[in-house]
Amino acid sequence: MKLSKDISLWEDSVRLKHYPRLEGVAGCEVLIIGGGMAGILTAHRLAAEGVDVTVAEAGRIGCGVTAGTTAKITSQHGLIYQKLVSHLGTERAALYLKGNEDAIGQFTQLCEGEPDSCDFRRTSNYIYSMSGEQVLEQEMKALEQIGCSAARMRSGDYLELPFQTDGAVEFPMQACFHPRKLLKHVTEGEKASSAAIFENSRITRLKRWPDGGWEAISEHGSILADQVIFACHFPFMDRRGGYFAKMYQSRSLVIAGWPGIAAELKGMYLDEAESGLSFRSADGMILLGGGSGRPGKVDSSWQQLQEQAEVLYPGWETRYRWAAQDCMTLDGMPYIGPYYGKPEPGEKHHGLWTATGFNKWGMTGSMVSSVVLTDLICGRENKYAELFRPDRSVLKPQLALNVLESTVNLLKPKVPRCRHLGCALTWNEEEQTWECPCHGSRYDKKGQCIEGPSVKNLF
Ligand SMILES: Cc1cc2nc3c(=O)[nH]c(=O)nc-3n(C[C@H](O)[C@H](O)[C@H](O)COP(=O)(O)OP(=O)(O)OC[C@H]3O[C@@H](n4cnc5c(N)ncnc54)[C@H](O)[C@@H]3O)c2cc1C
Repeated sequence: MKLSKDISLWEDSVRLKHYPRLEGVAGCEVLIIGGGMAGILTAHRLAAEGVDVTVAEAGRIGCGVTAGTTAKITSQHGLIYQKLVSHLGTERAALYLKGNEDAIGQFTQLCEGEPDSCDFRRTSNYIYSMSGEQVLEQEMKALEQIGCSAARMRSGDYLELPFQTDGAVEFPMQACFHPRKLLKHVTEGEKASSAAIFENSRITRLKRWPDGGWEAISEHGSILADQVIFACHFPFMDRRGGYFAKMYQSRSLVIAGWPGIAAELKGMYLDEAESGLSFRSADGMILLGGGSGRPGKVDSSWQQLQEQAEVLYPGWETRYRWAAQDCMTLDGMPYIGPYYGKPEPGEKHHGLWTATGFNKWGMTGSMVSSVVLTDLICGRENKYAELFRPDRSVLKPQLALNVLESTVNLLKPKVPRCRHLGCALTWNEEEQTWECPCHGSRYDKKGQCIEGPSVKNLF
Protein backbone atom coordinates (compact mmCIF):
# COMPACT_ATOMS: atom_id res chain seq x y z
CA MET A 1 0.00 0.00 0.00
CA LYS A 2 1.59 3.27 -1.00
CA LEU A 3 1.57 6.38 1.18
CA SER A 4 -0.33 4.70 3.99
CA LYS A 5 0.68 4.97 7.61
CA ASP A 6 0.09 2.39 10.32
CA ILE A 7 -1.31 5.06 12.57
CA SER A 8 -4.74 6.57 12.87
CA LEU A 9 -5.69 9.85 11.27
CA TRP A 10 -6.43 11.19 14.78
CA GLU A 11 -2.99 10.32 16.18
CA ASP A 12 -1.18 11.72 13.17
CA SER A 13 -3.03 15.02 13.10
CA VAL A 14 -2.97 16.09 16.77
CA ARG A 15 0.01 16.11 19.11
CA LEU A 16 -0.83 16.06 22.81
CA LYS A 17 1.30 17.46 25.60
CA HIS A 18 3.68 15.09 27.45
CA TYR A 19 3.14 14.45 31.16
CA PRO A 20 5.63 13.17 33.76
CA ARG A 21 6.05 9.57 34.83
CA LEU A 22 4.78 8.65 38.30
CA GLU A 23 7.78 8.51 40.64
CA GLY A 24 7.68 8.25 44.42
CA VAL A 25 4.42 8.55 46.31
CA ALA A 26 1.52 10.78 45.29
CA GLY A 27 -1.96 11.21 46.76
CA CYS A 28 -5.44 12.28 45.65
CA GLU A 29 -9.12 11.80 46.41
CA VAL A 30 -9.93 9.93 43.20
CA LEU A 31 -7.44 8.08 41.03
CA ILE A 32 -8.47 7.26 37.47
CA ILE A 33 -6.54 4.41 35.88
CA GLY A 34 -6.48 5.04 32.12
CA GLY A 35 -6.32 8.25 30.09
CA GLY A 36 -8.64 7.40 27.20
CA MET A 37 -11.94 9.09 26.39
CA ALA A 38 -13.65 7.54 29.45
CA GLY A 39 -10.87 8.42 31.91
CA ILE A 40 -10.26 11.96 30.67
CA LEU A 41 -13.94 12.94 30.44
CA THR A 42 -14.56 11.57 33.94
CA ALA A 43 -11.50 13.41 35.31
CA HIS A 44 -12.73 16.61 33.68
CA ARG A 45 -16.20 16.31 35.20
CA LEU A 46 -14.99 15.31 38.67
CA ALA A 47 -12.42 18.12 38.75
CA ALA A 48 -15.18 20.60 37.81
CA GLU A 49 -16.95 19.47 41.01
CA GLY A 50 -13.86 20.35 43.03
CA VAL A 51 -12.69 16.75 43.48
CA ASP A 52 -8.91 16.25 43.68
CA VAL A 53 -8.34 13.86 40.72
CA THR A 54 -5.27 12.15 39.29
CA VAL A 55 -5.06 10.15 36.06
CA ALA A 56 -2.43 7.39 35.71
CA GLU A 57 -1.91 6.31 32.09
CA ALA A 58 0.17 3.29 31.01
CA GLY A 59 1.31 4.95 27.78
CA ARG A 60 0.32 8.39 26.49
CA ILE A 61 -3.16 9.81 26.99
CA GLY A 62 -5.50 9.10 24.08
CA CYS A 63 -3.21 6.35 22.79
CA GLY A 64 -5.56 3.41 23.42
CA VAL A 65 -8.79 2.47 21.66
CA THR A 66 -9.66 6.17 21.61
CA ALA A 67 -6.89 6.64 19.02
CA GLY A 68 -8.43 3.89 16.88
CA THR A 69 -12.09 4.84 17.00
CA THR A 70 -14.14 6.08 14.06
CA ALA A 71 -15.57 8.72 16.43
CA LYS A 72 -19.25 8.63 15.53
CA ILE A 73 -21.29 10.15 18.34
CA THR A 74 -24.63 8.44 18.21
CA SER A 75 -27.33 6.78 20.25
CA GLN A 76 -27.92 4.31 17.39
CA HIS A 77 -25.70 1.43 18.42
CA GLY A 78 -26.58 -1.00 15.63
CA LEU A 79 -30.11 -2.39 15.65
CA ILE A 80 -29.99 -2.63 19.40
CA TYR A 81 -33.41 -1.34 20.43
CA GLN A 82 -35.40 -4.42 19.36
CA LYS A 83 -33.06 -6.51 21.59
CA LEU A 84 -33.25 -4.06 24.49
CA VAL A 85 -37.05 -3.90 24.33
CA SER A 86 -37.37 -7.67 24.31
CA HIS A 87 -34.78 -8.25 27.08
CA LEU A 88 -35.30 -5.23 29.33
CA GLY A 89 -38.69 -3.81 28.42
CA THR A 90 -39.64 -0.47 26.91
CA GLU A 91 -38.88 1.68 29.95
CA ARG A 92 -35.26 0.61 30.27
CA ALA A 93 -34.69 0.60 26.51
CA ALA A 94 -35.99 4.20 26.46
CA LEU A 95 -33.61 5.08 29.30
CA TYR A 96 -30.68 3.70 27.30
CA LEU A 97 -31.68 5.90 24.37
CA LYS A 98 -32.09 8.95 26.60
CA GLY A 99 -28.69 8.50 28.29
CA ASN A 100 -26.93 8.34 24.95
CA GLU A 101 -28.95 11.22 23.47
CA ASP A 102 -27.99 13.34 26.50
CA ALA A 103 -24.37 12.44 25.81
CA ILE A 104 -24.62 13.89 22.29
CA GLY A 105 -25.85 17.15 23.82
CA GLN A 106 -22.98 17.15 26.32
CA PHE A 107 -20.43 16.69 23.50
CA THR A 108 -22.06 19.61 21.67
CA GLN A 109 -21.56 21.83 24.73
CA LEU A 110 -17.94 20.74 25.22
CA CYS A 111 -16.97 21.26 21.58
CA GLU A 112 -18.84 24.55 21.15
CA GLY A 113 -16.71 27.65 21.34
CA GLU A 114 -13.41 25.87 20.73
CA PRO A 115 -11.36 27.39 17.88
CA ASP A 116 -11.80 24.32 15.67
CA SER A 117 -14.90 22.96 17.50
CA CYS A 118 -13.02 19.63 17.64
CA ASP A 119 -14.27 19.11 14.05
CA PHE A 120 -17.66 18.43 15.68
CA ARG A 121 -20.39 18.18 13.07
CA ARG A 122 -24.08 17.27 13.40
CA THR A 123 -25.21 14.69 10.88
CA SER A 124 -27.42 11.61 10.47
CA ASN A 125 -26.40 8.10 11.40
CA TYR A 126 -27.68 5.18 9.33
CA ILE A 127 -27.74 1.47 10.08
CA TYR A 128 -28.22 -0.23 6.73
CA SER A 129 -29.24 -3.77 5.86
CA MET A 130 -28.04 -6.08 3.12
CA SER A 131 -30.35 -8.88 4.21
CA GLY A 132 -33.82 -7.52 3.65
CA GLU A 133 -36.04 -4.86 5.17
CA GLN A 134 -37.52 -7.01 7.89
CA VAL A 135 -34.81 -6.33 10.50
CA LEU A 136 -35.18 -2.61 9.85
CA GLU A 137 -38.95 -2.74 10.21
CA GLN A 138 -38.60 -4.60 13.51
CA GLU A 139 -36.19 -1.94 14.75
CA MET A 140 -38.61 0.82 13.71
CA LYS A 141 -41.35 -0.94 15.65
CA ALA A 142 -39.18 -1.11 18.78
CA LEU A 143 -38.24 2.56 18.38
CA GLU A 144 -41.90 3.48 18.12
CA GLN A 145 -42.61 1.52 21.30
CA ILE A 146 -40.01 3.52 23.24
CA GLY A 147 -41.27 6.83 21.89
CA CYS A 148 -38.42 7.61 19.50
CA SER A 149 -40.23 9.62 16.85
CA ALA A 150 -37.13 11.04 15.16
CA ALA A 151 -36.01 7.76 13.56
CA ARG A 152 -36.88 7.25 9.88
CA MET A 153 -36.91 4.25 7.57
CA ARG A 154 -34.99 5.06 4.37
CA SER A 155 -34.91 3.21 1.06
CA GLY A 156 -31.62 2.06 -0.45
CA ASP A 157 -31.86 4.79 -3.14
CA TYR A 158 -31.88 7.53 -0.49
CA LEU A 159 -28.45 6.58 0.87
CA GLU A 160 -25.12 7.98 -0.37
CA LEU A 161 -23.47 4.55 -0.38
CA PRO A 162 -21.84 3.38 -3.65
CA PHE A 163 -23.68 0.05 -3.62
CA GLN A 164 -27.22 -1.22 -3.36
CA THR A 165 -28.68 -1.90 0.10
CA ASP A 166 -32.11 -2.92 1.36
CA GLY A 167 -32.48 0.43 3.09
CA ALA A 168 -31.60 1.81 6.49
CA VAL A 169 -32.89 3.20 9.75
CA GLU A 170 -31.83 6.84 10.05
CA PHE A 171 -31.22 8.69 13.32
CA PRO A 172 -31.05 12.41 12.45
CA MET A 173 -29.06 14.99 14.49
CA GLN A 174 -26.29 12.66 15.58
CA ALA A 175 -22.67 13.83 15.33
CA CYS A 176 -19.03 13.05 14.65
CA PHE A 177 -15.79 14.75 15.73
CA HIS A 178 -12.02 14.48 16.13
CA PRO A 179 -11.52 12.62 19.43
CA ARG A 180 -7.97 13.78 20.12
CA LYS A 181 -8.86 17.43 19.49
CA LEU A 182 -11.43 17.07 22.24
CA LEU A 183 -8.88 15.45 24.58
CA LYS A 184 -6.49 18.31 23.84
CA HIS A 185 -9.11 20.91 24.70
CA VAL A 186 -10.11 19.33 28.00
CA THR A 187 -6.52 18.76 29.10
CA GLU A 188 -4.66 21.76 27.63
CA GLY A 189 -7.17 24.38 26.44
CA GLU A 190 -9.25 26.99 28.22
CA LYS A 191 -11.59 24.27 29.44
CA ALA A 192 -8.70 22.21 30.84
CA SER A 193 -9.39 20.55 34.15
CA SER A 194 -7.16 20.69 37.21
CA ALA A 195 -6.62 16.90 37.19
CA ALA A 196 -3.01 15.77 37.57
CA ILE A 197 -1.84 13.38 34.83
CA PHE A 198 0.97 10.83 34.88
CA GLU A 199 1.98 9.08 31.67
CA ASN A 200 4.11 5.98 31.08
CA SER A 201 2.85 4.82 34.47
CA ARG A 202 1.12 1.46 34.18
CA ILE A 203 -0.68 0.52 37.39
CA THR A 204 0.03 -3.14 38.03
CA ARG A 205 -1.43 -3.74 41.49
CA LEU A 206 -3.82 -2.29 44.04
CA LYS A 207 -3.41 -2.63 47.80
CA ARG A 208 -6.20 -2.00 50.30
CA TRP A 209 -5.29 0.27 53.21
CA PRO A 210 -6.74 -0.50 56.65
CA ASP A 211 -8.23 3.02 56.86
CA GLY A 212 -10.29 2.33 53.72
CA GLY A 213 -8.18 3.92 50.98
CA TRP A 214 -6.24 2.27 48.16
CA GLU A 215 -2.61 2.26 47.05
CA ALA A 216 -2.15 1.89 43.30
CA ILE A 217 1.32 0.69 42.44
CA SER A 218 3.32 1.25 39.24
CA GLU A 219 6.92 0.31 38.44
CA HIS A 220 8.40 3.54 39.78
CA GLY A 221 5.87 4.88 42.27
CA SER A 222 2.48 4.65 43.88
CA ILE A 223 -0.63 6.74 44.41
CA LEU A 224 -2.71 6.77 47.57
CA ALA A 225 -6.36 7.44 46.79
CA ASP A 226 -9.67 7.33 48.64
CA GLN A 227 -11.38 5.97 45.52
CA VAL A 228 -10.20 4.43 42.27
CA ILE A 229 -11.86 4.29 38.84
CA PHE A 230 -10.76 1.62 36.37
CA ALA A 231 -11.10 3.38 33.02
CA CYS A 232 -8.27 1.29 31.58
CA HIS A 233 -10.34 -0.34 28.85
CA PHE A 234 -10.26 -3.89 30.33
CA PRO A 235 -10.23 -3.92 34.17
CA PHE A 236 -7.25 -6.01 35.27
CA MET A 237 -8.12 -6.87 38.89
CA ASP A 238 -9.49 -10.39 38.42
CA ARG A 239 -10.20 -11.28 42.05
CA ARG A 240 -13.42 -9.25 41.95
CA GLY A 241 -16.04 -8.40 39.36
CA GLY A 242 -15.48 -11.37 37.03
CA TYR A 243 -14.73 -9.15 34.01
CA PHE A 244 -12.55 -11.88 32.50
CA ALA A 245 -15.70 -14.03 32.19
CA LYS A 246 -18.24 -11.38 31.32
CA MET A 247 -16.30 -9.60 28.56
CA TYR A 248 -14.28 -10.42 25.48
CA GLN A 249 -12.64 -8.14 22.93
CA SER A 250 -13.47 -7.65 19.28
CA ARG A 251 -10.84 -6.22 16.94
CA SER A 252 -11.58 -4.30 13.72
CA LEU A 253 -9.60 -2.72 10.91
CA VAL A 254 -9.94 0.79 9.52
CA ILE A 255 -8.47 2.44 6.43
CA ALA A 256 -8.78 6.13 5.58
CA GLY A 257 -8.27 7.37 2.05
CA TRP A 258 -9.11 9.80 -0.71
CA PRO A 259 -12.15 8.37 -2.49
CA GLY A 260 -11.10 9.52 -5.99
CA ILE A 261 -13.75 11.62 -7.73
CA ALA A 262 -16.50 10.47 -5.37
CA ALA A 263 -17.89 13.12 -3.07
CA GLU A 264 -17.48 13.11 0.69
CA LEU A 265 -20.20 11.40 2.70
CA LYS A 266 -22.52 13.66 4.66
CA GLY A 267 -23.93 10.87 6.81
CA MET A 268 -22.38 8.05 8.83
CA TYR A 269 -23.14 4.45 7.93
CA LEU A 270 -22.85 1.00 9.48
CA ASP A 271 -24.03 -2.40 8.28
CA GLU A 272 -26.38 -4.07 10.73
CA ALA A 273 -24.40 -7.33 10.22
CA GLU A 274 -21.30 -7.70 12.41
CA SER A 275 -19.19 -8.63 9.41
CA GLY A 276 -20.27 -5.56 7.41
CA LEU A 277 -18.66 -2.20 6.69
CA SER A 278 -18.62 1.18 8.44
CA PHE A 279 -18.33 4.54 6.64
CA ARG A 280 -17.86 8.19 7.58
CA SER A 281 -15.93 11.13 6.16
CA ALA A 282 -13.23 13.13 7.93
CA ASP A 283 -10.74 15.64 6.62
CA GLY A 284 -11.78 14.99 3.00
CA MET A 285 -11.19 11.27 3.40
CA ILE A 286 -13.52 8.34 3.85
CA LEU A 287 -12.93 6.13 6.88
CA LEU A 288 -13.81 2.58 5.95
CA GLY A 289 -14.05 0.08 8.80
CA GLY A 290 -14.41 -3.64 8.46
CA GLY A 291 -13.21 -7.08 9.49
CA SER A 292 -13.89 -8.10 13.01
CA GLY A 293 -13.15 -10.92 15.36
CA ARG A 294 -11.41 -11.76 18.59
CA PRO A 295 -7.78 -10.59 18.70
CA GLY A 296 -5.71 -13.10 16.73
CA LYS A 297 -8.82 -14.16 14.81
CA VAL A 298 -9.87 -11.11 12.77
CA ASP A 299 -11.67 -12.33 9.64
CA SER A 300 -10.10 -9.85 7.21
CA SER A 301 -6.87 -8.01 6.37
CA TRP A 302 -6.01 -4.44 5.41
CA GLN A 303 -5.31 -5.71 1.89
CA GLN A 304 -8.86 -7.09 1.61
CA LEU A 305 -10.30 -3.86 2.97
CA GLN A 306 -8.25 -1.87 0.47
CA GLU A 307 -9.51 -4.09 -2.38
CA GLN A 308 -13.11 -3.46 -1.25
CA ALA A 309 -12.41 0.30 -1.14
CA GLU A 310 -10.95 0.24 -4.68
CA VAL A 311 -14.07 -1.51 -6.00
CA LEU A 312 -16.43 0.90 -4.23
CA TYR A 313 -14.43 4.05 -4.99
CA PRO A 314 -12.40 3.75 -8.22
CA GLY A 315 -9.30 5.94 -7.75
CA TRP A 316 -9.21 5.25 -4.01
CA GLU A 317 -5.88 6.11 -2.37
CA THR A 318 -5.21 4.89 1.16
CA ARG A 319 -3.56 7.40 3.48
CA TYR A 320 -3.86 5.73 6.87
CA ARG A 321 -4.61 2.30 8.21
CA TRP A 322 -5.04 1.10 11.74
CA ALA A 323 -6.64 -1.57 13.90
CA ALA A 324 -8.29 -1.36 17.31
CA GLN A 325 -10.33 -3.50 19.63
CA ASP A 326 -13.06 -2.87 22.13
CA CYS A 327 -14.58 -4.77 25.05
CA MET A 328 -17.86 -6.55 24.34
CA THR A 329 -20.31 -7.33 27.14
CA LEU A 330 -22.81 -10.14 27.61
CA ASP A 331 -25.90 -8.04 26.92
CA GLY A 332 -24.53 -5.30 24.64
CA MET A 333 -24.61 -2.57 27.32
CA PRO A 334 -21.55 -1.11 29.06
CA TYR A 335 -20.54 -1.77 32.66
CA ILE A 336 -20.51 1.56 34.50
CA GLY A 337 -20.54 1.78 38.29
CA PRO A 338 -19.15 -0.08 41.32
CA TYR A 339 -16.33 -2.46 40.31
CA TYR A 340 -18.00 -5.29 42.16
CA GLY A 341 -21.20 -5.85 44.07
CA LYS A 342 -21.34 -5.34 47.76
CA PRO A 343 -18.80 -3.57 50.00
CA GLU A 344 -17.29 -5.49 52.94
CA PRO A 345 -19.45 -5.65 56.09
CA GLY A 346 -19.28 -2.32 57.91
CA GLU A 347 -18.19 -0.34 54.82
CA LYS A 348 -20.34 2.31 53.14
CA HIS A 349 -18.71 1.59 49.80
CA HIS A 350 -15.48 -0.05 48.70
CA GLY A 351 -14.35 2.92 46.63
CA LEU A 352 -13.66 0.99 43.42
CA TRP A 353 -15.47 1.89 40.20
CA THR A 354 -15.28 1.07 36.54
CA ALA A 355 -16.33 2.26 33.07
CA THR A 356 -15.82 -0.45 30.48
CA GLY A 357 -17.48 -2.75 27.94
CA PHE A 358 -18.50 -0.11 25.43
CA ASN A 359 -19.22 -2.60 22.61
CA LYS A 360 -17.57 -0.25 20.06
CA TRP A 361 -19.83 2.62 21.14
CA GLY A 362 -17.55 4.23 23.70
CA MET A 363 -17.84 7.85 22.59
CA THR A 364 -21.33 8.34 24.03
CA GLY A 365 -20.49 5.52 26.47
CA SER A 366 -17.56 7.51 27.88
CA MET A 367 -19.71 10.61 28.27
CA VAL A 368 -22.46 8.63 30.03
CA SER A 369 -19.76 7.10 32.30
CA SER A 370 -18.43 10.51 33.25
CA VAL A 371 -21.92 11.62 34.32
CA VAL A 372 -22.87 8.43 36.17
CA LEU A 373 -19.54 8.04 38.01
CA THR A 374 -19.34 11.71 38.97
CA ASP A 375 -22.83 11.57 40.47
CA LEU A 376 -22.15 8.35 42.37
CA ILE A 377 -18.79 9.53 43.69
CA CYS A 378 -20.27 12.87 44.74
CA GLY A 379 -23.00 10.98 46.61
CA ARG A 380 -25.85 11.85 44.26
CA GLU A 381 -28.48 9.60 42.72
CA ASN A 382 -28.22 8.98 39.00
CA LYS A 383 -31.12 7.72 36.92
CA TYR A 384 -28.89 5.63 34.65
CA ALA A 385 -26.84 3.99 37.41
CA GLU A 386 -29.12 0.98 37.84
CA LEU A 387 -29.25 0.27 34.08
CA PHE A 388 -25.46 0.08 33.68
CA ARG A 389 -24.46 -1.45 37.02
CA PRO A 390 -21.69 -3.98 36.36
CA ASP A 391 -23.09 -6.63 38.71
CA ARG A 392 -26.34 -7.09 36.76
CA SER A 393 -27.22 -10.66 35.74
CA VAL A 394 -24.53 -12.46 33.77
CA LEU A 395 -26.62 -15.48 32.80
CA LYS A 396 -26.44 -14.99 29.04
CA PRO A 397 -25.48 -17.36 26.17
CA GLN A 398 -22.37 -15.21 25.54
CA LEU A 399 -21.03 -16.20 28.97
CA ALA A 400 -20.89 -19.86 27.90
CA LEU A 401 -19.11 -18.87 24.67
CA ASN A 402 -16.54 -16.82 26.62
CA VAL A 403 -15.86 -19.71 28.99
CA LEU A 404 -15.60 -22.16 26.07
CA GLU A 405 -13.15 -19.91 24.19
CA SER A 406 -10.99 -19.53 27.31
CA THR A 407 -11.03 -23.27 28.00
CA VAL A 408 -10.00 -24.14 24.44
CA ASN A 409 -7.15 -21.62 24.54
CA LEU A 410 -6.03 -22.69 28.01
CA LEU A 411 -5.77 -26.30 26.84
CA LYS A 412 -3.87 -25.56 23.60
CA PRO A 413 -0.37 -27.02 23.84
CA LYS A 414 1.28 -23.92 22.49
CA VAL A 415 3.75 -21.34 23.78
CA PRO A 416 3.98 -18.44 24.50
CA ARG A 417 1.10 -18.02 26.89
CA CYS A 418 -0.59 -14.83 28.02
CA ARG A 419 0.65 -13.39 31.33
CA HIS A 420 -2.94 -12.53 32.28
CA LEU A 421 -4.61 -15.94 32.73
CA GLY A 422 -2.36 -18.23 30.70
CA CYS A 423 -4.26 -18.63 27.38
CA ALA A 424 -2.26 -19.67 24.29
CA LEU A 425 -1.31 -16.61 22.23
CA THR A 426 -1.76 -16.27 18.47
CA TRP A 427 0.82 -14.54 16.24
CA ASN A 428 -0.59 -11.71 14.10
CA GLU A 429 1.76 -11.54 11.12
CA GLU A 430 0.24 -8.35 9.71
CA GLU A 431 0.64 -6.35 12.92
CA GLN A 432 3.66 -8.32 14.25
CA THR A 433 2.02 -8.87 17.62
CA TRP A 434 1.17 -11.75 19.96
CA GLU A 435 -2.56 -11.65 20.75
CA CYS A 436 -4.74 -13.40 23.30
CA PRO A 437 -8.07 -14.60 21.86
CA CYS A 438 -9.51 -15.07 25.39
CA HIS A 439 -9.35 -11.53 26.79
CA GLY A 440 -7.45 -9.52 24.19
CA SER A 441 -4.07 -8.79 25.80
CA ARG A 442 -1.45 -7.94 23.15
CA TYR A 443 2.36 -7.99 23.15
CA ASP A 444 4.88 -6.68 20.62
CA LYS A 445 7.39 -9.05 19.06
CA LYS A 446 9.85 -8.45 21.90
CA GLY A 447 7.18 -9.50 24.40
CA GLN A 448 6.42 -6.00 25.71
CA CYS A 449 2.79 -5.75 26.88
CA ILE A 450 1.05 -3.17 24.69
CA GLU A 451 -2.56 -3.78 25.66
CA GLY A 452 -4.30 -5.24 28.73
CA PRO A 453 -5.86 -6.77 30.71
CA SER A 454 -2.32 -8.20 31.13
CA VAL A 455 -0.08 -5.88 33.12
CA LYS A 456 3.10 -7.96 32.61
CA ASN A 457 5.55 -8.39 29.75
CA LEU A 458 5.90 -11.83 28.15
CA PHE A 459 9.54 -12.57 28.94
C1 LIG B 1 -12.45 0.05 15.19
C2 LIG B 1 -13.28 0.75 16.24
C3 LIG B 1 -14.13 1.78 15.86
C4 LIG B 1 -14.90 2.41 16.83
N1 LIG B 1 -15.74 3.42 16.44
C5 LIG B 1 -16.54 3.99 17.35
C6 LIG B 1 -17.46 5.01 16.96
O1 LIG B 1 -17.55 5.38 15.79
N2 LIG B 1 -18.25 5.56 17.93
C7 LIG B 1 -18.19 5.15 19.22
O2 LIG B 1 -18.97 5.64 20.05
N3 LIG B 1 -17.30 4.22 19.63
C8 LIG B 1 -16.48 3.64 18.73
N4 LIG B 1 -15.59 2.70 19.12
C9 LIG B 1 -15.43 2.42 20.55
C10 LIG B 1 -14.64 3.50 21.27
O3 LIG B 1 -13.57 3.94 20.47
C11 LIG B 1 -14.10 2.95 22.58
O4 LIG B 1 -15.17 2.34 23.30
C12 LIG B 1 -13.53 4.05 23.46
O5 LIG B 1 -12.51 4.72 22.76
C13 LIG B 1 -13.00 3.44 24.74
O6 LIG B 1 -12.41 4.46 25.49
P1 LIG B 1 -11.69 4.07 26.85
O7 LIG B 1 -11.25 5.31 27.48
O8 LIG B 1 -12.55 3.14 27.61
O9 LIG B 1 -10.46 3.15 26.38
P2 LIG B 1 -9.02 3.58 25.85
O10 LIG B 1 -9.07 4.68 24.89
O11 LIG B 1 -8.34 2.32 25.43
O12 LIG B 1 -8.33 4.14 27.16
C14 LIG B 1 -7.88 3.28 28.18
C15 LIG B 1 -6.48 3.73 28.57
O13 LIG B 1 -6.05 2.98 29.71
C16 LIG B 1 -4.69 2.77 29.62
N5 LIG B 1 -4.35 1.62 30.46
C17 LIG B 1 -4.62 0.31 30.23
N6 LIG B 1 -4.18 -0.42 31.27
C18 LIG B 1 -3.63 0.44 32.18
C19 LIG B 1 -3.00 0.27 33.44
N7 LIG B 1 -2.87 -0.94 33.99
N8 LIG B 1 -2.52 1.38 34.07
C20 LIG B 1 -2.68 2.62 33.52
N9 LIG B 1 -3.27 2.82 32.32
C21 LIG B 1 -3.76 1.74 31.67
C22 LIG B 1 -4.45 2.51 28.12
O14 LIG B 1 -3.12 2.78 27.76
C23 LIG B 1 -5.45 3.46 27.48
O15 LIG B 1 -4.87 4.69 27.09
C24 LIG B 1 -14.81 2.03 18.19
C25 LIG B 1 -13.97 0.99 18.56
C26 LIG B 1 -13.21 0.35 17.60
C27 LIG B 1 -12.31 -0.76 18.03
